Amino acid sequence: YRAKSSPQRYMFYNADMSSGLAERIALARDLKAALQSDDGQLSLVFQPQFDLATQTLIGAEALMRWQHPQHGPISPGVFIPIAEERGMMLMICHWVIDAACRQLLAWQSAGARFPGRMAINIAAQQMEDAAFPQWVERRVRSFGLSPELFELELTESGMMRNIDLAIELAGQLSDAGFTLAIDDFGTGYSSLAYLKQLPADKLKIDQSFVRNMQDHPNDHAIVATIVAMGRTLGMSTIAEGIESDAQAAALRQLGCQEGQGYQFGRPESPETFASRWLG
Ligand code: C2E
Ligand code: MG
Ligand code: MG
Ligand code: MG
Repeated sequence: YRAKSSPQRYMFYNADMSSGLAERIALARDLKAALQSDDGQLSLVFQPQFDLATQTLIGAEALMRWQHPQHGPISPGVFIPIAEERGMMLMICHWVIDAACRQLLAWQSAGARFPGRMAINIAAQQMEDAAFPQWVERRVRSFGLSPELFELELTESGMMRNIDLAIELAGQLSDAGFTLAIDDFGTGYSSLAYLKQLPADKLKIDQSFVRNMQDHPNDHAIVATIVAMGRTLGMSTIAEGIESDAQAAALRQLGCQEGQGYQFGRPESPETFASRWLG
């Protein structure tokens, strides 16, 4: 059975199918092989990010995709947690940074101008590795690229795992020139006392609050609070998961500067992204 030859039977490998230990071990093994051989199973897709007031493109988030030779597409919601529990996030991070740098260079040499920054997801394990800031700066510079081109998304819950180290490493990343955004913000129980010590540039409002902000006053209030908190701390805010005009308008009205979501654009292959968004 090959996914490509029978599209009717094509299905997503989901969290239930990967709940058994044996399945998870097998997937981890396949993922490791895919990372090492880099034979095209893994790729990056790019989702545009916009200035909400001017509707101009300000960058893109790079998101990983895995086309498994037998199981078909496996979502990062399934394979990232497996990679995390099996200590593979360093390998993932290296692969993603390299792929993102190569893509920026490929667009450049094709004459497609990429504005703003490329946002890259950084796992909690990286923020517990004291060598990470120096490594990632050297790595992007080895491609002839500058850290100013990148926004690193660090999850709020990941930062809280070892907050003192995370504050120190965030400081080094920021000094190196990377922009720092706190991803899935609002879901990770960080205290204001810690937040004000974090040299982050942006709070990225979790999509769970954006999704319900029209119908649930509580979620609307949480979004308003996050935007106000950002303003107080000197950080901008970006909303993820914007699926309607009404949500975009409500966010704009609250003073949220940036946004990302299906309303503006889905994650796309490099070719589609370039033809749709890059001049
Ligand atoms: P995330 O970083 O919070 O990424 C946002 C997720 O929301 C993406 O799912 C994106 O496709 C999806 N999304 C964007 N706009 C909308 C929208 O309007 N509506 C809805 N319903 N969803 C939207 P994706 O690509 O499946 O990634 C899921 C998670 O997997 C990411 O959450 C991130 O935590 C992780 N991930 C993905 N790629 C990487 C990677 O390269 N490295 C690491 N460490 N984690 C990654
Ligand atoms: Mg993200
Ligand atoms: Mg997010
Ligand atoms: Mg999220």
